[in-house]
Amino acid sequence: MERLLRRWRSFSGPLLSRCPPSQPPLCRAYHHPPGRVKRLALSRFFQPQNLREDQVVGLESRVSELTCKSHRLMLQTGLIHPAGPGCYHYLPFTVRAMEKLIRMIDQEMQAIGGQKLDMPSLCSAKLWRATGRWQLMGKELFQLQDRHNKEYCLGPTHEEAITSLMASQKTLSYRQLPHLLYQVTRKFRDEPRPRFGLLRGREFYMKDMYTFDCSAEAAHQTYDLVCDAYGRLFDRLGLRFVRVQAAVGSIGGTMSHEFHLPLNIGEDTLTACSNCGFTANVETLDPKQPNCPVCQGKLAETKGVEVGHTFYLGTKYSSVFNTEFINAQGKPSLVEMGCYGLGVTRILAAAIEVLSTEECIRWPRLLAPYQVCLIPPKKGSKEEMAIEPMETLYDNIAEALPQLQGEILLDDRTHLTIGNRLKDAKKLGYPFVVIAGKRALEQPCHFEVWCQNTEEVVFLPKQGLLDLLRKVQVV
Ligand code: ATP
Ligand code: MG
Repeated sequence: MERLLRRWRSFSGPLLSRCPPSQPPLCRAYHHPPGRVKRLALSRFFQPQNLREDQVVGLESRVSELTCKSHRLMLQTGLIHPAGPGCYHYLPFTVRAMEKLIRMIDQEMQAIGGQKLDMPSLCSAKLWRATGRWQLMGKELFQLQDRHNKEYCLGPTHEEAITSLMASQKTLSYRQLPHLLYQVTRKFRDEPRPRFGLLRGREFYMKDMYTFDCSAEAAHQTYDLVCDAYGRLFDRLGLRFVRVQAAVGSIGGTMSHEFHLPLNIGEDTLTACSNCGFTANVETLDPKQPNCPVCQGKLAETKGVEVGHTFYLGTKYSSVFNTEFINAQGKPSLVEMGCYGLGVTRILAAAIEVLSTEECIRWPRLLAPYQVCLIPPKKGSKEEMAIEPMETLYDNIAEALPQLQGEILLDDRTHLTIGNRLKDAKKLGYPFVVIAGKRALEQPCHFEVWCQNTEEVVFLPKQGLLDLLRKVQVV
C-alpha cells in the first residue's frame, strides 16, 4: 500500500502542478469559467472516430460473418471499441445511453415492487453442481479456480446464487412475500459464435429479476405483472416487439415467453397465426405440424432478436436449496419462483439496428446520449460572428430548461466546416442539431434546427427553439 501511495504521489505531483494556481484542475476539465453554465465541448470528448469500413470488417473473427448495421455504425462512431472476441469497451456515449436505459428499467421494475440488489460475478461451483448445471452448461461457462483450488464460474445468470441467498433466510414469512429482486450486472457466456457486436457478446449487461411467491397462483400473477412491465418498457422506447411462447432451455421451469424485436438478422424464427393471434418461437413447435396448434390456421414466419425472456420456474430451484417460507398455518413450504431477463446491451444495439439508416444512427428518443448538439460556424468563415451567439444560446438553453442541463453538446471543432460537423452529428443521431449559419446573423437571429427523429429542418428564432426544446423528455 505504502509503495502504491509513494508511486501515486510521484505520478500525480507534476500532473497537478502543471495547472496554474488560478485555474483549479476541475474547471479546466469542464471547460467553463467558475460560476457559469458548464458547457460540454465535443473537442474534449474521448471518442475514437472514423474506423474505416475495411477495418471494421477486419475486426470480425470470421470474414464470412460480415457484421450488421448496428455493429458497423457503433464502431464507426466510436460508441464501442473491440477488446477481444465478443468483448467491447463501452465508450462514454454508450455508457450514457446505457445509464438511461437502466434508469428506465429501474423505473419499470420498481413500479411493480422490484428491489434492486447486486450479486457477485464469481459464483461457486458448489451451487452450480447442486443443480446439475455445472455439467449442463458445459463449455459456455467461464470456469476458474482461486489460489485454494476452489472452483468458480463467472455468472452467466444467477438462479443458484439468489435461491441459496433466499434459503439462508430461515424466518421468511408468507406475509413478506412476494419478493421481486433484480440486478443489472455483467454476465459472462463463452458463446460459440460471438458476433454482431453487442447483439451477441461473451460479456454483456443483463437485467435479471427473480421472484418469490407463496403459491403457484400468486407466482402466475407476478409473472403477468413482470410481462406487462416489459411491454411498457418497450412501448416507452417506441420499439415494436412480439411476445412468443418459448422453450425453457437450460434455465428450466414449465412456462416461458420471449420478447423479440422483429429483425431480419435475428437468429430466432418466430411464427404467428393471423387467425387467433397465437405466437411462438418455432423451436417450441412440432416440425411435422405446419398449422397453428390452437385453431389449425395458417402460420407466418418472421425473424427476431430476443431482447427479453421470462420463465415460470415453480420449485425447480427452491427444492434444490430448500428455500422455504413459513406459511399461514405456521408450516415451512417451498417458495414458487420466476426469473426474468432483459438484455441491456442487446436492447441498445437492437434498437439502433431497428431505427437507423445504413448511414446514420437513430436512437429511441429517450436513450440518445445527448439530446441537443450545437454547431457554431467555422472560424475564419463569413459567419464567424455567429460563434459567440451560439455559445450564449448554449447558456440560455441550459438556464431556461434545467431538465436539459447535461444534455447539450457544443461542437466546438470550429476548424471544421459546418457541413463536416453536421455529417458527424447526423451519423451520431442527436435528436436535435442546431446550426448557426448565415441566418444567425440576421435580425432577429434564426437558427437552423435538424429534428432528426422526424426528419424535419426548420429555421427558428431563439424563443421558438426554446419552445421546441421545452417539450423534450429526458430520463
Ligand atoms: P440467445 O438465445 O440469444 O442465446 P438466451 O436465451 O441464451 O439468448 P437468456 O438466458 O434468456 O438468453 O438471457 C436473457 C437475455 O439476455 C436474453 O433475452 C438476451 O436479451 C440477453 N442475452 C443473452 N445472451 C446474450 C449475449 N450473448 N449477448 C448479449 N445479450 C445476451
Ligand atoms: Mg432466452
